[in-house]
Amino acid sequence: MALSNDILSKLRDAIGANHVLTAKEDLIAYSFDGTAALRQLPGCVVFAQTTAQVSTILELANATKTPVVTRGSGTGLSGGSLPCPDCIVLCLVQMNRILELDRANLTLLAEPGVTTLAVADAAAGAGLFYPPDPGSMKISTIGGNVAENSGGLRGLKYGITRNYVMGLEVVLPDGEILWTGNKCVKDVAGYSLRDLFVGSEGTLGVTTKVLLRLIPKPAAKRTMVATYADMGLAAQTVSDIIAAQIIPCTLEFLDRTTIHCVEDFAKVGLPLDCEALLLMETDGHPAAVAEEAERMEQLARKNGALEVRVARDDVEATKLATARRSAFSALARVAPTTILEDATVPRSELVTMIRFVDTVAKKYQLRVGTFGHMGDGNLHPTFLTDERNQEEMHRVEEAFKEIFQEAIRLGGTITGEHGVGLAKKGILPKFAGDAQMRVMRELRRVLDPNRILNPGKMFD
Ligand SMILES: Cc1cc2nc3c(=O)[nH]c(=O)nc-3n(C[C@H](O)[C@H](O)[C@H](O)COP(=O)(O)OP(=O)(O)OC[C@H]3O[C@@H](n4cnc5c(N)ncnc54)[C@H](O)[C@@H]3O)c2cc1C
Repeated sequence: MALSNDILSKLRDAIGANHVLTAKEDLIAYSFDGTAALRQLPGCVVFAQTTAQVSTILELANATKTPVVTRGSGTGLSGGSLPCPDCIVLCLVQMNRILELDRANLTLLAEPGVTTLAVADAAAGAGLFYPPDPGSMKISTIGGNVAENSGGLRGLKYGITRNYVMGLEVVLPDGEILWTGNKCVKDVAGYSLRDLFVGSEGTLGVTTKVLLRLIPKPAAKRTMVATYADMGLAAQTVSDIIAAQIIPCTLEFLDRTTIHCVEDFAKVGLPLDCEALLLMETDGHPAAVAEEAERMEQLARKNGALEVRVARDDVEATKLATARRSAFSALARVAPTTILEDATVPRSELVTMIRFVDTVAKKYQLRVGTFGHMGDGNLHPTFLTDERNQEEMHRVEEAFKEIFQEAIRLGGTITGEHGVGLAKKGILPKFAGDAQMRVMRELRRVLDPNRILNPGKMFD
């Protein structure tokens, strides 16, 4: 059933008619996210400007049992912000102010629609550092990062979004506004609801403010590129670096297909005569950086690196990181449909996993480009395919099934950072098991008894 005129007129009264979209040509732009092959028109799109408006919208939706799909920039890769039929898409990109940068407590308070890059820039402007840097950071919102508990290129040393969330303002499905967390470094009063909302993929509440922890900027860094004639040798280098108890800031991997696509796209002078490339970055005290860089270079050479190149300066280092961040977009240019996954394994299993992905791609005769946050054990095998070719899509599905099964067998997980959303909800029960599924379902039922928030995502 389409959204009633009564609901639409109440929404217009609550937030202003110019903040409510209903024309089909407007809705099309909100009918998909970054996930391949998923599309659904919503009933309407609304742009909230304040927490009070979010509360009013949810109160109305709850009273009328109207589904609400919260949306940031729509860069999600598991279908999390894909609309459900006749839902309200609650888009928060216009709540995009940085409200406070507290230099005494090293915190930053932001509205959910602030981009990750704007958070990082604001921190840098105060001589501080906000480390989580998803590849999408130029456009992804901090609200989306919190909902997906996003990682980034620096996750290996600095952790993921969760590690920087000190507090949240959340609007519950019935419109009640809740604060959880604060500026205290230590706080053990009650359950940590903040941690429950981080990574809840828009299914438990709508985040309307985020209090983030900032840290001092590292004094020095060194960026290096190592190339290999064999992917397994690159993976072995990563495992060896971790086993040697070196935790660099970044250990990113690109295979041959990805290197060529990235170089075509970004033209940064990546070496092309290799099967794999590692982007390695160490940061911290200058003496520690120098020592770590030397040890990493030795391990890379011990594993047969063809070349180890050190970035000349910050400009070259930034170019290399930007090139790596463009990997998904670069691969997306060469095939009508790119389906990217984020199977993750313990770092000791990287060699097995990377070879397995290659074998599976050959078995199903699929073109694959693999890249990822290898230092986190987080790989992004990306199948270059065409959703119009149903027979090939079937092979892609079968290939992914095998990859996930192998990840689980190796002690890994079905998603390291992109979330469950729609894309992985079929395999979540197998991974999570009965007891976890029951607790998650019950938590959701208590917070959202009318099942209005992001219904059908994560689990039914
Ligand atoms: C090129 C590219 C590179 C990427 N690289 C990375 C990467 O390196 N690491 C990584 O982790 N991810 C990466 N991603 C995935 C994606 O960018 C992240 O998941 C990001 O956090 C999504 O932010 P968004 O604002 O686009 O959220 P959306 O896609 O709009 O929403 C994502 C989910 O969050 C929910 N949500 C959004 N805002 C709120 C809110 N305020 N309150 C409650 N729920 C909310 C939505 O309902 C949905 O379930 C990449 C994506 C692309 C396209």
